[in-house]
Amino acid sequence: MEYLANTVVELIEELSKLPGIGRKTAQRLAFHIINKSEDEAMKLANAIVKAKRNTKYCSICCNLTDVDPCTSCASKKRDRSVICVVEDPRDVMAIERTRDYNGMYHVLHGNISPMDGIGPEEIKVKELIMRLNDPEVEEIILATNPTIEGEATAMYISKLVKPMGIKVTRLAYGIPVGGDLEYADEVTLSKAIEGRREI
Ligand SMILES: [Zn+2]
Repeated sequence: MEYLANTVVELIEELSKLPGIGRKTAQRLAFHIINKSEDEAMKLANAIVKAKRNTKYCSICCNLTDVDPCTSCASKKRDRSVICVVEDPRDVMAIERTRDYNGMYHVLHGNISPMDGIGPEEIKVKELIMRLNDPEVEEIILATNPTIEGEATAMYISKLVKPMGIKVTRLAYGIPVGGDLEYADEVTLSKAIEGRREI
């Protein structure tokens, strides 16, 4: 791309590394950014730097946060007797959008997937089990995705938690098999929470 300034080429290259961004979209975004006012462009650049520097895992629920514990864990209004276990921070956002759930969360940051060499130690299972020593916890809802890995992860956690005398439930109908919590609409997710079952 000799006809383009190196600075622009570099920006296009960095943008095209982002998930879901192809070459054409990267070019469009790059030209959009360059045509913005300097103020606007700096706002975007600073937001990226700030998010990267100040975002960490909550020491309780392992969700992404800029304060520790996160606002959800620190809230006095949430029901501490139930913990909803999800794969990804985006799943917390999806469930929060339903406004049907007022319990606590635990983010695993992945799934158990022996094919990819990911065992229970690679995700936040140990952190979850430690939380269950709190006598306030009565139930965990396993809200991992209904994929093979999500089911395997749910079964693994269920086997660990049941002997502790804690009720274990799993999201039921509503979420399509092979689907992704993040993309489910509010009604579907509401139904899934409502119809959870013990496993
Ligand atoms: Zn938290």
